[in-house]
Amino acid sequence: MKSHHHFLISFIIGSSYLFLTGKSIDLVNLLPWFIGGVLVDIDHFFTYGKNYKTLNLKKITRLIVNDYKQNNQAIYVFHTIEFTLFLAFIIVRTSLSWQYLASYLLHLSCDGIRHKKLVKDYSWLKKWSVAYYVKLKVSTKG
Ligand SMILES: [Zn+2]
Repeated sequence: MKSHHHFLISFIIGSSYLFLTGKSIDLVNLLPWFIGGVLVDIDHFFTYGKNYKTLNLKKITRLIVNDYKQNNQAIYVFHTIEFTLFLAFIIVRTSLSWQYLASYLLHLSCDGIRHKKLVKDYSWLKKWSVAYYVKLKVSTKG
């Protein structure tokens, strides 16, 4: 899913939550929704930068935009079950707002809906794991 879609969904859900709980709808209160719901896609820049061996943001952005329709699977560290568990652990163990986790899970759900639409099954789900890529790397070495 494209970043502006994530932004819009995070804004609508975050604002609705703030409205229903009587909190002010401002940037400070919406920050967890934007960090969890939009900023997690920053890992696409890490992955493309590593795979194409470039730090040129313009080139990476062009690669991401062109690749969007291809559904090429690669490891995106913030889109893995391991990171999800890590984030949940951090939320439970600290006073960090649960809204970070809620918006993050909303983001993953939206990405999942997009993948389901492209691939028509759930085969992509196992690829949302660091363990999958470690296992793949080990099996291709031997
Ligand atoms: Zn994403």
